[in-house]
Amino acid sequence: MTAGTRCRPLVHLVGAGPGDPELLTLKAIRTIRRATVLLVDDLVGTCVLRFARRSARIVRVGKRGGCASTPQAFIERLMVAEALRGERVVRLKGGDPFVFGRGGEEAAHLRELGLEVEVVNGITSGLAAASAIDVPLTHRDHAHGVMFLTGHARRDASDAALDWPAIAAAAASGITVVVYMGIASVESLQAGLRTGLAADMPVAIVQDASLATQRHAICRLDVLAEVVARDGFASPAIIVVGDVVRAGIALAGSAQEVAARRVS
Ligand code: SAH
Repeated sequence: MTAGTRCRPLVHLVGAGPGDPELLTLKAIRTIRRATVLLVDDLVGTCVLRFARRSARIVRVGKRGGCASTPQAFIERLMVAEALRGERVVRLKGGDPFVFGRGGEEAAHLRELGLEVEVVNGITSGLAAASAIDVPLTHRDHAHGVMFLTGHARRDASDAALDWPAIAAAAASGITVVVYMGIASVESLQAGLRTGLAADMPVAIVQDASLATQRHAICRLDVLAEVVARDGFASPAIIVVGDVVRAGIALAGSAQEVAARRVS
């Protein structure tokens, strides 16, 4: 790092929200506008990038399964190198940078190297998906909390397996479960939650929340995997499990009731 009186190099970790550019925060837009280099995750839509200046360098560093992925170490090295060169670096991530987005790891790495980090919140897709289908995640008649869960367990040895009976017991006690990255492992998600939840617990699947391509289904827990396969749900999707889904049906009225009848 350069010594002297200069401020420390700064990297902005910015949440781009679930996809609809209208859901960006004012702070995110302001930060994106000022950036000279943007390192962009693949869940960030092109609509969001229209706020970048034309001269900005946009580097796509997607990591999704099946696509060409950029190693995390390379992304971190690039962020550091560009910031040290005096570029205004924005690391743009889908949703919120600190919700299943590796933002914590990146911020720690940058700070270890003496760089400054500013985190700009985004609307996380779990919240956006629920609102998009009128599901009030903490409706007080049905829930007293929310759990954000990953369906994509880490494969390294240090990671403990998910404690399904504990998770299912929490859900049964009135904690709504919001599952990220749950499509690929939907069978084990269903089996795990069934260790403590009734077969008819309502579930919502929301793909592409907030985008023009958004679609959803509502079903019982015991047919979740079947519905995902039958209706061809794919990533990115959020799965919401809990009685609050019923409240969503009541709020949204007939369109969702039809969907519920179709799949239950
Ligand atoms: N930091 C992000 C989550 C990254 S993990 C956030 O806060 O939203 C990637 C997962 O997010 C996807 O597998 C999917 O479960 C979810 N996701 C991201 N965008 C989504 C969208 N528009 N609709 C539904 N799910 C989405």
